[in-house]
Amino acid sequence: MATVAAGVLARRIRGQGRARTKLRVAVVGAGAFGGWTALHLRLLGADVTLIDSGGPGNELSSSGGRTRVIRAIYGPDRIYSEMVKRAYELWKPVAGRYYVETGALWMHRGDDAYVRSALPILKDLGFIVDKFTVAEAARRYPQIDFKGVKSVYFERKAGALSARDLCGVVRDVFVKEGGAYRATKAVPPQSVRGPMKSLSLADGSHVDADVYVFACGPWLGQLFPDVIDGSIRPTRQEVLYFRPPAGSDRYRPGKLPVWIDFGPRIVYGIPDIDGSGFKVADDTRGELFDPTTGKRVVSDEGVRRARQFLSVRFPELAKAPLSSAEVCQYENSPDGNLILDRHPAARNVWLIGGGSGHGFKLSPVVGEMTAQAVLAGREVPKTFRLDRLQKVEKRKTQFESKKD
Ligand SMILES: Cc1cc2nc3c(=O)[nH]c(=O)nc-3n(C[C@H](O)[C@H](O)[C@H](O)COP(=O)(O)OP(=O)(O)OC[C@H]3O[C@@H](n4cnc5c(N)ncnc54)[C@H](O)[C@@H]3O)c2cc1C
Repeated sequence: MATVAAGVLARRIRGQGRARTKLRVAVVGAGAFGGWTALHLRLLGADVTLIDSGGPGNELSSSGGRTRVIRAIYGPDRIYSEMVKRAYELWKPVAGRYYVETGALWMHRGDDAYVRSALPILKDLGFIVDKFTVAEAARRYPQIDFKGVKSVYFERKAGALSARDLCGVVRDVFVKEGGAYRATKAVPPQSVRGPMKSLSLADGSHVDADVYVFACGPWLGQLFPDVIDGSIRPTRQEVLYFRPPAGSDRYRPGKLPVWIDFGPRIVYGIPDIDGSGFKVADDTRGELFDPTTGKRVVSDEGVRRARQFLSVRFPELAKAPLSSAEVCQYENSPDGNLILDRHPAARNVWLIGGGSGHGFKLSPVVGEMTAQAVLAGREVPKTFRLDRLQKVEKRKTQFESKKD
């Protein structure tokens, strides 16, 4: 990233109005959440060490995929639409060619309440959403068969972020700005009772800091079983890339946006951005998955189901060659909301995660909220606090027992 762009980002961050600090902070995890948190803290003057055992956007991490969607439609959850608005401002000076704006096409075979409930919020925030008739949508996108689709919306500002590349970019800017990066594993702290004084690393060294932030994605529950317990459940997710017909640009940005199909399952995809293939992913939560030892081989069943979907919605691609695939994991919180809070037994330890299949786009703002909470004591939104997890579990148990 050009120094000029780093300067723009620094102004946007510092402009948030707080004094510079000399606090020493250790951030564990250089995925999207940890990388951005470290960068914000550093640009606000903290002395930051960022630690990751596998590297930013490594292939086991949840940020490790090729691309992630950014869109502002979030049903009635205003907080996320607002975060996306701010995220665009923070991604802009950083993303460069790693962001491709395509717009997002929302197709519904049944109820479209999720999008409808977002419309007043988006309007208020200045995002434009068009409603197309199905006939109009079919004229615009002849490569899509709209069979069974009842309503179509087009979110103009939306697109794809190159996920693992951007984790690398954020780490590089952080280092350029004077942050320290350590490629090693943090030894999981034994049960934490009171302020943390030091963090042991697998290479035999340790980091002494005033504040410790753990942004360990799907591993967060393993590091803090007594606090996170089963509240982050990693599930196995498959992403498939199909090769469009040679010479065709119908599946490229400009001709095709990001799309989301609300059918019996939610299936979404990203056009072929750089010749690496047309992405198809099923948002349905897969089976529980161990992020360290889980086998990352795509299933025949997943490929069969995707082809079945393509034969309906993108018929020209039904027999397209599978060019590559990724097996990744969602790190699901019980209610799908993020986790961003202080450790209940240690005021200087912060836990962030729970991206739940939608966290990447929000990561610059997760970093900003964390930095503001750590340095300026700014309140964290209630929706992200740890104490709600217990309540969520209790409510679920009550609900489940009513069903039985
Ligand atoms: C298939 C798939 C599709 C998705 N699609 C979207 C999308 O379209 N849009 C969107 O916004 N989001 C999407 N997401 C969600 C998003 O990618 C994640 O929520 C987000 O990347 C999580 O980032 P993280 O930093 O919390 O976790 P991670 O990226 O997993 O980072 C955690 C890091 O911690 C490190 N670590 C763990 N333990 C230790 C330790 N003890 N010592 C040192 N380092 C450690 C790991 O090496 C890792 O790098 C998707 C996720 C998946 C899997």
